Amino acid sequence: MRRTQIVAGNWKMNKTYQEGRDLVKAIVEKLQPSDNKVVLCTPFIHLNSVAASIKDISNLHLGAQNCHQEMRGAYTGEVSAAMLQSVGAEYVIIGHSERRKYFSESDELLAQKVKTVLGIGLLPIFCCGEELAIREEGTQNQLVKKQLEAALFGLEEEDFAKVVIAYEPVWAIGTGKTATPEQAQEMHAYIRALISEKYGEKRADLTTILYGGSAKPNNAKELFSQPDVDGGLIGGASLKADDFVAIVNSF
Ligand code: PEP
Repeated sequence: MRRTQIVAGNWKMNKTYQEGRDLVKAIVEKLQPSDNKVVLCTPFIHLNSVAASIKDISNLHLGAQNCHQEMRGAYTGEVSAAMLQSVGAEYVIIGHSERRKYFSESDELLAQKVKTVLGIGLLPIFCCGEELAIREEGTQNQLVKKQLEAALFGLEEEDFAKVVIAYEPVWAIGTGKTATPEQAQEMHAYIRALISEKYGEKRADLTTILYGGSAKPNNAKELFSQPDVDGGLIGGASLKADDFVAIVNSF
């Protein structure tokens, strides 16, 4: 069985309601039918309208960028996994480096979020990756191992099987400084080896591992052609329909 290949767009905190509608309309018009999955991870306010715009397109899926770890309750301003599911989201990004950095999301909290998301039947896109100082020190493997062990490796295999991993070196996110295809491949192969140690080779072979960090139409093909890179999590370039669709077509 071939691994699922995915290109996921992370709109971050961009696009007003109308701009979001226009972007989705343009993506829907340009996208060719294919076996690869495309996931649009939008701000909460867009989920309902994007769900309606993509409902007839089988390879287009909806995702959110975060959710709360509790199921419900007095958490003013927060959004629960059940709420996301009720408007048609299938995926949720968990542990994006911007959430770790600006909202102090710890490995322990992310482990809780992953459990909540899986418990309700949503699919986490779990982000891991090192800051520049760690890369310069050469300890990126240890850091990524720690992130995966803390948030994912406590899961039963049945649950782990539903997780998509995104390796996103923090120094490459929004900086225009993409990891080289070799750097990406090296880390993806390492992550797959860790999964193999924990859950066995078969599960490791089936796990989708995305690359994220300044992926663009002019570098996506080379990144995606690496044997352990199964697609991308795309920030800036997901905000322009032409660029995003060009990346989707890079397999
Ligand atoms: C991201 O935010 O997940 C990301 C990869 O951003 P960018 O593509 O803009 O580097």
